[in-house]
Amino acid sequence: MRAVKLVGHELIEVREAPEPRLQGDTDAIVRVTHTAICGADLLPFHGHTPGFELGTTLGHEFVGIVQDAGDAVGGLQPGQRVVNTSMTSDGSCSHCRAGRVTQCASRALFGYSGVYPRLDGGQADLVRVPRADRCLWPIPDDVSDEDAVFVADILPTGFVAVQRAAVGAGDVAVVLGCGPVGLMAVMCAVGTARRVIAVDGIGARRRLAMELGASAVEPAAAAAAVHDSTGGLGADAVIEASGAAAALTAALDLVRPQGVVSVVGAHFEPAFPLNNGLMFEKEITLAFAIGNPGRDRERLLAMIQEGALRPSRVITDTVALDEAAAAYRAFDAREATKVVLTT
Ligand SMILES: [Zn+2]
Repeated sequence: MRAVKLVGHELIEVREAPEPRLQGDTDAIVRVTHTAICGADLLPFHGHTPGFELGTTLGHEFVGIVQDAGDAVGGLQPGQRVVNTSMTSDGSCSHCRAGRVTQCASRALFGYSGVYPRLDGGQADLVRVPRADRCLWPIPDDVSDEDAVFVADILPTGFVAVQRAAVGAGDVAVVLGCGPVGLMAVMCAVGTARRVIAVDGIGARRRLAMELGASAVEPAAAAAAVHDSTGGLGADAVIEASGAAAALTAALDLVRPQGVVSVVGAHFEPAFPLNNGLMFEKEITLAFAIGNPGRDRERLLAMIQEGALRPSRVITDTVALDEAAAAYRAFDAREATKVVLTT
């Protein structure tokens, strides 16, 4: 079978790989039909994830058909169309038992071997899925593959960003960074907030945000836009979806007193110059969150069914799996906003 592998620094190759087999009775094998490239895939691509095992098959967002399932997999049948959770969880550790599934003691992220326990990803013809009953979920017939693939990771991430920001009816919410995750947050906040101000330096991404119902500005214009929308009070909620330290600094400046800054951008900087004086004076809440597809996917799939969400609107490029190397380059260069690979 074909598999998209990171084999060197910024070097993607589609290689022939052995077909995965069931390794335990809770495993399933999925024949992948659609798989997306995530911003998080660019971190090992650039060597920003110490320990990453080169040769790992990438990809933690996929949709496909169950091909085989172990004897202990009760909820799935071969032939079913399913979407994954980007991370696996065991359901039995203290964190899982308490509902903190994203902090599972044995969590693994598909396609992130070495950073997490070894687990090849879904940018391939076939993928082995451990703990398949927890990881895979059947896709309703009236939800397209292109919409469903967002339920694996970034739609739940945008959704939790809005939840943690406590965006309320009539609020002014700011979304910093209109990559795919930021656009999911825009989609989830529009309709609740009275105004969503989307901030990004790239015109194509601002246009997508506007199509989703936000007003969109360049970073240099964000402070004035927030001032004008709130009578100078500041934004009720700011969602930081870029992962840049400068965006987090901007978020803390844009939020109103007693407002919430909700961070879903992936941050790895070990030190950050937090202005404690400002945090105290303004009583700011700063919250970090990881999307939880296993908790939120049924609600999100239902919202897609109702027409309340259509995440596939942000797909800019649908590319054959064989063209993955060029697709990664285009995504990294921000010539593509969201890339879906098809087998
Ligand atoms: Zn656990």
